[in-house]
Amino acid sequence: MKVVMPVMPGTKKSQIVTIKVKKGQNVEKGSELICIEGKKGSHVIKAPVSGIVSEILVSEGEEISTGELLIEISEAGSMNSGQEDIAKKQDSVNVSCKKIILDCDLFVIGGGSGGYIAAIHAAKKGRKVILAEKNKLGGTCLNVGCIPTKTLVASAHHYQDVLHAAAFGVIVENAPRADLKKMIDRKNQVVSQLTSGVSYLMEKNGIQVINGLASFDSPECVTVQSDECKYQVHFRDCIIATGSVASRPTIPGIDLEGVMDSTEILSMTELPKSLTIVGGGVIGLEFAFIYRNLGVNVTVVEALDRLVTMVDEDLSESILEYAKNNGIRIELAASVKSFRKGMDGELITEFTRDNDSYLLVSDKVLVAVGRRAYIKDLALEKASVELDRQKRNIKVNKYMETSVPHIYAVGDVNGLIQLAHAASYEGDIAIKHILGEKTAFRPEIVPSVIFTDPEIATVGKSEALLKAEHVNYKKGVFHFSANGKALSEGRATGYIKILMDENEKILGAGIIGPDASSLIASIGICIANELSVTALLNTVFAHPTTAEVIHEAALDLTLGAFHE
Ligand code: NAD
Repeated sequence: MKVVMPVMPGTKKSQIVTIKVKKGQNVEKGSELICIEGKKGSHVIKAPVSGIVSEILVSEGEEISTGELLIEISEAGSMNSGQEDIAKKQDSVNVSCKKIILDCDLFVIGGGSGGYIAAIHAAKKGRKVILAEKNKLGGTCLNVGCIPTKTLVASAHHYQDVLHAAAFGVIVENAPRADLKKMIDRKNQVVSQLTSGVSYLMEKNGIQVINGLASFDSPECVTVQSDECKYQVHFRDCIIATGSVASRPTIPGIDLEGVMDSTEILSMTELPKSLTIVGGGVIGLEFAFIYRNLGVNVTVVEALDRLVTMVDEDLSESILEYAKNNGIRIELAASVKSFRKGMDGELITEFTRDNDSYLLVSDKVLVAVGRRAYIKDLALEKASVELDRQKRNIKVNKYMETSVPHIYAVGDVNGLIQLAHAASYEGDIAIKHILGEKTAFRPEIVPSVIFTDPEIATVGKSEALLKAEHVNYKKGVFHFSANGKALSEGRATGYIKILMDENEKILGAGIIGPDASSLIASIGICIANELSVTALLNTVFAHPTTAEVIHEAALDLTLGAFHE
């Protein structure tokens, strides 16, 4: 008989305070085994059967999670059938935990940027929240997306800094070496620190986390299957935040060894000599710059006639130029048709342009052709939650409500904007709606960043959109080549453009250059609060900083830039 850590209200972990038995000791059913201290006080775990303590697998002071094995009891052979029944009943409730019935105000499916932020928000407002996560807390962003890629971006930048140190008067005698294994180890440490941080936040806010796969039984109830238990959770409101998975197109040879998606490439510990990247979108380009900066020969194959088509053409053109200058080979209007293995194990990627066929040879291939909503295990039909017209994403209104009013869907799963911070923002909108406050989703206030080299950042409406909407707009531009801080750091590439309407209201901005990812926030504030260019003109920007380009672009919209 295995005695495991029971579910403790409001916490996943508890501390072993006292172990009241010794190995080999005879215990009676119901006698005290272990005293534990949880978030909501102490609790005594009692023997579910009579027998001999055959193993003690924990020690005093240790922190133990729900479901972990504590003690093993060898049953004293001769139980009558009545005793057996009672023991089995105990077993199902306390020990092997076959089914647990719970209820809550809010049930959140998915512990990524959409789900965990919504859970914290609701808990802070006094709601009883249960969150189910089938994998690790933190979702795509923390585990296999934004954060791991940014640790690799940082490693690649350090490598480049050392390579170019002489230009800054720093002489490095020996050539540096990029150790991808060490970079991946560091990435894993950063990820683990952040995901444990989310775990801590769940505990701190009294959110019960169930590790398991949730699927709907009805519009008011879900079942969560974890390794040890089956939970049936009844809820008043529910937020679906299950995210997305990498699309796997049906290209012949896609399952060959060495053809990776954006999750698999994060475990690669040896730098290839050459890498073909299918897809010149956000993920494709971020990895192209990371690996090129680490010395790999990179080729990007993009089906459309320009890179990162979600930004204005001028920004696409600029990043194309930087990529080429960096040594990245770019094949546009090129559609990948197949992968196959060569005689020496190399990968051969076949693509077509117009009616001609071309072959690329590389050690590895990364396929980054988009992500699709993860809905397959939810049994949405049992809750009557509808999908959009293409049957790809969960359909939501501007308050993130699905077709079932008390069930919401936020983040990649609704297909509105596939960005981590958009998911958190949508989670906030859903919680406000549950609390009775109607705040509608505003796509124009969600910034977007591409961590290329240099970075690209946008917010608000693009020029392409304003033209399509026949809006009269004016554009102010300023280049980093005239910015003192960027020049002093040797990063004076790119420019900012700010767009305003006839009433001088800021409509949008695009930045390609150093610190673009952080600079875009100032323009985001203007758009979210419907400010005019005067707000930027009246702001004093510290000198010397890259942020001064914002002031100069605002001047360019009015008086004319001072430094250009
Ligand atoms: P994407 O849609 O940005 O780009 C995919 C590209 O692949 C497209 O340009 C498409 O034309 C091309 N493509 C498709 N099939 C092809 C084929 N057979 N041959 C050649 N090219 C082909 O998708 P992604 O880069 O995979 O990113 C997925 C999502 O994740 C995006 O919504 C993105 O915004 C998000 N994301 C964001 C960040 C960030 O915020 N920095 C980082 C990574 C991912």
